Amino acid sequence: MVGEDDYDKLCKVVLVGDVSVGKTHILSRYMKDDLPKAPAATIGVEFATKTCKLPSGTNIKAQIWDTAGQERYRAITRAHYRRAAGAVLVYDVTRQETFRSCSNWVAEVREGALPDATIILVGNKIDLVEQDPSTRQVYHDVAQEFARQNGLLFIEASALSGAHVKEAFDILFEEVTVKSPKESKNESDGAVSDYGAGVTISPSNRKNKTSGCEYCG
Ligand code: GDP
Ligand code: MG
Repeated sequence: MVGEDDYDKLCKVVLVGDVSVGKTHILSRYMKDDLPKAPAATIGVEFATKTCKLPSGTNIKAQIWDTAGQERYRAITRAHYRRAAGAVLVYDVTRQETFRSCSNWVAEVREGALPDATIILVGNKIDLVEQDPSTRQVYHDVAQEFARQNGLLFIEASALSGAHVKEAFDILFEEVTVKSPKESKNESDGAVSDYGAGVTISPSNRKNKTSGCEYCG
């Protein structure tokens, strides 16, 4: 067991990708091993935190930022990306257009996040393809080649079945902690989350120690 305040690194990670690819479901699957109770109706960004022990033994406090529909309008603010050490870029393996958008999302992350930010490309909804192979619109090899060319990690997953969701975050955090980009300040003031008291930081309960030099470095 890892205690809430017992960690070596604090890592901000952003979820990006077209609307409806399953970002919120992936977050909920990772945080609670469950599906979201209700669609997020919040305006603006929100984030959840989770303290976990990586397979390598490092304890990290992951701060994962979700979007709340503004991705539909390409209106994600700079605050979403600021000081992010990692990104989970999600597309839907059954919708080609969500994969085509990925190069734009990569550019946006590269522009707004930390210079050396690690991105993992996640092909979500793989359960649909397992059920019916004819629903696949994005081939594994094509996505893998795109990831290679753009320096991204890559995995196919399903928020619905839970397949590879934890692995995706584990792989990302391992890479982030290996790179250990220099960071110093918590920039999350003012954000709210609906993931419950056990897994969130809000300005009212946020510990002062999170404003120290604890971002991955
Ligand atoms: P977001 O807009 O990217 O946050 O997407 P959501 O998490 O709100 O999910 C959009 C829709 O896709 C919802 O109807 C989900 O039930 C569905 N969905 C999400 N993940 C999966 C998955 O892994 N498999 C399947 N079959 N459906 C999914
Ligand atoms: Mg969402």
